[in-house]
Amino acid sequence: MTPASPGGEPRGLKRRSSHVVIVGGGVMGAASACFLVRDHGATVTVLERDPTYARASSALSASSIRQQFSQPVNIALSRWSLDFLRRVGDELAVAGERPAIGLVEPGYLYLATTAGAAVLRNHHAVQRGAGADVALLDPAALQARFPWLAVRDLALASLGLSGEGWFDGPALHQAFRRKAIACGAQFIAADVQGLETAADRVTAVACSDGRRFAGDAVLLAAGAWTAPLAARLGLALPVAAKKRDVFVLDCPTPLPGCPLVIDPAGVWFRPEGRGFLAGAPPREPWPGDPDEPPLDAVDHGLFDEVLWPRLAARVPAFEALRVRSAWAGYYEMNAFDHNGLAGRVPGWRNAFTACGFSGHGMQQAPAVGAGIAALIAGGRGHAPSLDGLTPERVAAGRPLLESNVI
Ligand SMILES: Cc1cc2nc3c(=O)[nH]c(=O)nc-3n(C[C@H](O)[C@H](O)[C@H](O)COP(=O)(O)OP(=O)(O)OC[C@H]3O[C@@H](n4cnc5c(N)ncnc54)[C@H](O)[C@@H]3O)c2cc1C
Repeated sequence: MTPASPGGEPRGLKRRSSHVVIVGGGVMGAASACFLVRDHGATVTVLERDPTYARASSALSASSIRQQFSQPVNIALSRWSLDFLRRVGDELAVAGERPAIGLVEPGYLYLATTAGAAVLRNHHAVQRGAGADVALLDPAALQARFPWLAVRDLALASLGLSGEGWFDGPALHQAFRRKAIACGAQFIAADVQGLETAADRVTAVACSDGRRFAGDAVLLAAGAWTAPLAARLGLALPVAAKKRDVFVLDCPTPLPGCPLVIDPAGVWFRPEGRGFLAGAPPREPWPGDPDEPPLDAVDHGLFDEVLWPRLAARVPAFEALRVRSAWAGYYEMNAFDHNGLAGRVPGWRNAFTACGFSGHGMQQAPAVGAGIAALIAGGRGHAPSLDGLTPERVAAGRPLLESNVI
């Protein structure tokens, strides 16, 4: 946990006041707002420059959830979120209307050749130690369970038996937003350009149209666009936009029991409705510019030259694939250690951030929203600890490297 400041600042804001200004109304900002107003009685203003969320990662996410990480903190956060998602109808109901997010749990399946088998075994030990319901399968067991998969080149696989799958991420985002508003949060269209400070406190945020919003605490949750804002507080956040293409595919042959499959080459696929989603590591140089090129700039060559050959080699039925549509969005990628940065901004009493989730932010939004709200308001309650994700680790040179990034 971020230590109390030398001046003896209480760990939360409860005793002084509780008006929190949140910059960014994506799933992180909306979840944080929801827990602050619902569970801590705070007053919250969320400033979002594009209320259509056209370019927000939260609107363009593949919205899958797993426990197969290499770091225990990520397993703990995803498990906390999973419990929340299973109860989401109760947690985020508004006036008797229960949100539906379509959570399904067919698992993740990580595949390894001989070269990757030792790493898979090491991760398996970490995951079992953290309580994940995962099993290792040899090629024979794999073939018996998934007869549609080509396993000849594989040495080992890791399958999530429960607690992994996917859901409707934009529906979760909207449910957090609706619940936050129902509990009193205000969402305002505003483009934040500056942060006003006095000594070691942020006193207000300044918008491009001249409006100012004063608050007792500020949370920077602007996704791939957070680093320029944090730089105004002297914090060099190693977070930049990384483009990901997602292809929506039709395949005439069903694949019974298909989980989210991660090929050793980094290619992934999973069912979506009657079709499939699939993706591959991007070919564009990184870091990219989240405002250029336009978001519809899908790398179609990636499908023809990389993705389709790999998919057809792994699943012979995919020879007959057809691309129905495609989209591209941005991971808010943390180059330092591929993990979220959630906690107090070092050197500032009342500034916090939640960004850099590197492709696992949608699934961690419930846990991180609850955790950051507790940190800002004071008092943990049932919220998970965000100790491991403190932004202080960057300046301290203590990476918490997540090696399972898809
Ligand atoms: C293709 C793709 C697939 C993904 N797949 C998964 C997955 O399977 N599982 C998973 O868990 N995660 C996945 N993710 C990641 C996940 O979607 C993100 O981690 C998460 O949505 C980040 O939410 P956010 O609120 O931090 O950012 P965003 O949703 O980007 O929200 C940030 C908001 O801040 C606003 N903003 C920016 N600057 C300002 C400013 N100056 N003033 C006011 N507002 C501002 C933006 O307009 C934006 O709406 C995926 C992401 C993508 C793109």
